[in-house]
Amino acid sequence: MSHPPVQLGPNFIRNIVDEDLASGKHKSVVTRFPPEPNGYLHIGHAKSICLNFGLAALYQGRCHLRFDDTNPVKEEQEYIDAIKTDVSWLGFDWGENEYHASDYFEALYAFAEKLVEKGLAFVCDLPPEEMREYRGTLTEPGKESPYRSRTVGENLDLLRRMRAGEFDDGSRVLRAKIDMAAPNMNLRDPVLYRILRATHPRTGDAWCIYPMYDFAHGQSDSLEQITHSLCTLEFQDHRPLYDWLCEALEIYHPQQIEFARLNLTYTVMSKRRLLELVNEKHVSGWDDPRMPTLSGMRRRGFTAAAIRTFCERIGVGKSDSVIDMSTLEDCVREDLDQIAPRAMGVLRPLKVTITNYPEAQSEEFTAPKHPKKPEMGSRTIPFGREIYVDRDDFMEDPPKNFFRLGPDREVRLRYGYIIRCDEVIKDPVSGEVTELRCSYDTETGGGVLPEGRKKVKGIIHWVAAAHAVSVEVRLYDRLLSVADPASEKDRDYRELLNPESLEVLADALVEPGLASAEAGETFQFERLGYFCVDGKGSQSDKLAFNRTVTLRDTWAKLAKG
Ligand code: ATP
Ligand code: MG
Repeated sequence: MSHPPVQLGPNFIRNIVDEDLASGKHKSVVTRFPPEPNGYLHIGHAKSICLNFGLAALYQGRCHLRFDDTNPVKEEQEYIDAIKTDVSWLGFDWGENEYHASDYFEALYAFAEKLVEKGLAFVCDLPPEEMREYRGTLTEPGKESPYRSRTVGENLDLLRRMRAGEFDDGSRVLRAKIDMAAPNMNLRDPVLYRILRATHPRTGDAWCIYPMYDFAHGQSDSLEQITHSLCTLEFQDHRPLYDWLCEALEIYHPQQIEFARLNLTYTVMSKRRLLELVNEKHVSGWDDPRMPTLSGMRRRGFTAAAIRTFCERIGVGKSDSVIDMSTLEDCVREDLDQIAPRAMGVLRPLKVTITNYPEAQSEEFTAPKHPKKPEMGSRTIPFGREIYVDRDDFMEDPPKNFFRLGPDREVRLRYGYIIRCDEVIKDPVSGEVTELRCSYDTETGGGVLPEGRKKVKGIIHWVAAAHAVSVEVRLYDRLLSVADPASEKDRDYRELLNPESLEVLADALVEPGLASAEAGETFQFERLGYFCVDGKGSQSDKLAFNRTVTLRDTWAKLAKG
């Protein structure tokens, strides 16, 4: 098994593992990542993946990938494939250890018969509403089912007939016989099996009874000899049942350990909600670059290394918290700063004519692909009489501290000449600025500043009109317009969707070297941010770029005022 370098910092789970190895309780570490294939993986799953695979790597153990596929109604092969793609992309290798809870259906059923034989499970005929009533509440004990006293023989017969398909869906269930007065509701004779006629992606129609999560999960852990079964805090109340089942069945008993789930600001992080966003077409799909899914983040241009660094940085603890999205974005910036070639792109083009540059003339400047990495090589940047700059880099009536273009102001073209804005051309009807007429200082090409010449403060990016490549650029903003949707108790999260989360610029321009860029390649557009080529192109067949992140955390700046 090969693993990328995940630097799992010290945490309470490592302490437990250290003790277990020191005391001889375990000789090696076996963990598992157990997704239910009912949706695509999100960044929260990445935390669990890094933890489980990271622990296994740290202790030279192994980590299984197990599909918890016990609910055929919601599960699909598409999700299984996507999950494998995402785990591999994150850099983890489960080797031969790919399992499916459905592989254990026969073994799990045998466990069910064993519980019945031990008098620890019974077939219950209570209709669902009554079963709910009998369950009691947090403050009141439940009532025992009238079917609880069935004999072992009767229960075994009914269970076998449930499996044989003699009864209708939902008409009977198998329940553990534990304690209807237990303060922990999970111990009030929980359901272990239900009757459900649904075609399973892997077992087809072989089964019409399916194990419940609590029954399948721990028993699968046990069958795989998992040493430490890591799950999120909401399963803490299920641990007594996890333990009870292993004891009752007298099988290998893994230790369940709970850790805090990851929450991020400005997004939602449950598969149910993400599925709603997809189905209701609030986004273009699971891999929409605004989604907190790994496939969405990949399409957006986030790197696996950045996500792993993020998971290291947030650590593993026992109290729930909401992590700021900018923490993740900082990790992405740090990684891309190291690896992304630089380029110039103009998002909202404004034409500039260099009036004293001869029409027939052109030239090329040379620029490094990366300012700190000469090994990445250089690029050539053509220049001519007509260029485009970004509209944002011109102001007709600029304040003093605006060091870009304005009437009679000078600016340096990145890697090129210093130009001066002599005239502003406007549309006579709309008044919109349509062109700037500038002159260039012939002595200043390629970034040169002749001795004694007045410096200019501003440097702007630009592209040559004759050579620029027209592309589509998609700017993304937060999916939700509030940081913590959970705090908006009275409002559905769909009311909190940010209407400006996507802006499409259909006529952006980039330097010619990017014409052959391929899907997944990321560039730093100088001064603007990181942009990743999207495999799903624009309708006009233009190359499409997704803005991954801006260069600085513009949100932090806004918050400070
Ligand atoms: P969701 O709540 O998004 O539907 P889930 O818990 O139902 O997720 P599973 O497929 O059951 O999704 O999750 C697989 C593993 O990932 C589980 O061990 C689960 O605890 C872990 N996991 C899921 N969400 C998070 C999260 N936000 N942070 C950390 N771990 C998570
Ligand atoms: Mg789940």
